[in-house]
Order: sequence, then structure tokens, then C-alpha cells
Amino acid sequence: MRTAGRPGLVEGKVALVTGGARGIGRAVARLFAAEGARVVVCDLLEEGEQVAEEIRRAGGEAVFVRADVTREPEVEALVAGAVERFGRLDCAHNNAGITGGMAAVQDLALHDFEQTLRVNLLGVFLCLKHELRVMQRQGAGAIVNTSSGSGLIATPGLAPYCASKHGVLGLTKTAALENARTGVRVNAVLPGSIDTPMLREAMDRSPGMEKMIRASVPSGRLGTPEEVAEAVVWLCSDRASLVSGASLLVDGATVNR
Ligand code: NAP
Repeated sequence: MRTAGRPGLVEGKVALVTGGARGIGRAVARLFAAEGARVVVCDLLEEGEQVAEEIRRAGGEAVFVRADVTREPEVEALVAGAVERFGRLDCAHNNAGITGGMAAVQDLALHDFEQTLRVNLLGVFLCLKHELRVMQRQGAGAIVNTSSGSGLIATPGLAPYCASKHGVLGLTKTAALENARTGVRVNAVLPGSIDTPMLREAMDRSPGMEKMIRASVPSGRLGTPEEVAEAVVWLCSDRASLVSGASLLVDGATVNR
């Protein structure tokens, strides 16, 4: 699938997106396809098939793979399947994530802490591990991990989420440095408050939350998944050839307010 009048930003590349059934991941899958990539959409939710189907109906190439990013055999099969299907893997957006339990640190249940770290940090690690092996063999590739503004600053009541998103930045920077001579770039995108099902669910959980979130954004409006997708696809494109180890805020100056 191609935007008329110019070659796509990721024309001919093969791209993998986790958490691609909805929210930011769905917007990234759609934009990858619109910019010329063949796309593997991964999610726990079967709605990922609809995203792949929509891309195919528009003339692109996409497959849906149901996989849990916290299970190494499933991640290994996901990456191997992408290569088997499309011959290589050029771009990956490790984006699947959850908000997890909300409580002050002393009140947090061990299970909630572990589950959030498992999805948001261990999941990114497993994806990185298997994607890097393929991309290093190719001598080329670009990976974007989803962190958050909460990867830089504290959010009271969200310690597991903040810890996981800070951890994603550590993983990203280390992998970028380790790969400085392999041809593989690794970056992180740090969305602010983006209008997705995840944010809507968090806002519905506690009254007053929506007002508080909107008040925290200098522009007064929530970001769109499409605005984050623009940053992700650019970071994965050859136009970002010198960008590696970067933490790109897409938050309308929220963290710096
Ligand atoms: P979303 O609407 O909830 O989409 C996330 C998708 O990831 C869901 O379809 C979810 O499926 C899937 N997922 C969860 N656990 C998974 C697993 N173990 N394996 C595979 N897929 C899994 O969330 P979003 O707002 O688009 O967020 C995407 C990423 O951006 C997350 O990492 C989030 O932390 C980050 N982020 C979001 C915001 C924001 O304001 N929205 C801000 C900063 C960072 P289930 O529904 O079944 O869990």
C-alpha cells in the first residue's frame, strides 16, 4: 500500500508491531502499510486480525499472529514466522503494554508489580532479543520500543508502570550501544497522554481522572495514536539513519512543563 505521489518511507520493508490490535500499535501498523511496508500485526486480542484484514483490503500485505510477548517460545515463533513469511525483518515496534495495578508502593500486591514488569519490560526484552538476532544476521534493522513520559518522571500510584517504562529506556540505550557497529538501530518513543482504549479505561476507573489528565497536558488536548505512529515509522525509516539510543518524547511538552 502506498501514498500516491512519492515512495513510501519504509517502502519494501518488513515490519512487526506488538500490541497492534488497537490504540497506538494499530495506528503504527496502518502507517507502516501506508508507507510501503509488509506488516506482521501481533497482539493477544483477536481484533488484530481485523487490522491485518483492513490493510489487505486497502491493497497492502499483512498477517496477524496471536502471541503473548511474555512467553519466550511465542515471541521466538512470532519473529521466526515473520521471516519465514516475508523473508526478512527490517523494522520492529515493541509496543504491547498494560497500565497494571494502581496503588501506593506500600499497598501494591506482588502479583500486580510482577505482571506489569512482565508485559512492559520482560516483553520488550524478549522481543528485542529475538529481533536483534535476525537483524544482526542481516546487518540492518531498526527497532522502536514504547516507553512513556512515565519513563522519565514519577506518577504517584503507578510505581510498577513507571519502573517498567524507566527500564525500557535502560534496555533501549544498552541495546543501541551494543549494536552501534551491527547496522541495527534501537530507539524509544515516549508518548504523553494519548487517546487510546488503555487511557480511556484508566480514565473510567477513577472519577476526576480525565480532568486531571487533560489539565496536565499544556495544549489541553490528548494526543492521537496517529501522531505517535508518525514518530515510530520515521525512527524505523532510513531517514533516521544516525538516530540510535534516542528517547523521543511525543507529548506536546507535557514532561517539560
Ligand atoms: P492499548 O490500547 O491497551 O493497546 C495495547 C495492546 O497491547 C492491547 O491490544 C493489549 O491487549 C496488547 N497486549 C497487552 N499485553 C500483551 C501481551 N502480553 N502480549 C501481546 N499483546 C499484549 O494501549 P495503548 O494506549 O495503545 O498503549 C500502547 C503502548 O503505549 C503501551 O506500551 C503503553 O504503555 C504505551 N503508552 C500509552 C500511553 C497512552 O496515553 N495511551 C502513554 C504512554 C505510553 P489486551 O487488551 O488484551 O491487554
